[in-house]
Amino acid sequence: MTLIKSIAVSVRVCYHLLMKDATKNKLKKHAYTAAQWTWGLPQTLAGSLLYLRHRKADHFDYRGARATAWDKDTGVSLGKFIFVPRRAGGAPGRFLLEHEYGHTLQSLILGPFYLLVVGAPSILWNRLPYFRNKRLKTGRSYYSAPFESTANKLASRLTKSSK
Ligand SMILES: [Zn+2]
Repeated sequence: MTLIKSIAVSVRVCYHLLMKDATKNKLKKHAYTAAQWTWGLPQTLAGSLLYLRHRKADHFDYRGARATAWDKDTGVSLGKFIFVPRRAGGAPGRFLLEHEYGHTLQSLILGPFYLLVVGAPSILWNRLPYFRNKRLKTGRSYYSAPFESTANKLASRLTKSSK
């Protein structure tokens, strides 16, 4: 009888702890969303417009961010909204998903300065033939640019801490 009682108690404790974790995660996601819609408003607003333009694509939630798997071959991160290429199997690549999420964390840190400090340089670094050729010639990685490597560092810190 006491054994059954103690099992019942431990099950209840486990359940309680799990509930607490779920509530904590929920709160974290709410705080994340609130911060993106206030401090990170310019990019979140731009992201929401891009999201509407691609509303027919597949969407899913990723750690509080609203992700879209689209048919383009590049990733974009605008505040709460991330856009990643859809792979052959339909699921987006893990690395790019985490990388773009890292940019959303930069948005939380930089707020209204995100588009200036990360957005604009990243578009130039990505698109300008000058930088493309330079990367090809020197073998420098796309992710070696400071605004790109920071996104990876932030993302890897987060994925490590949640494991
Ligand atoms: Zn990037």
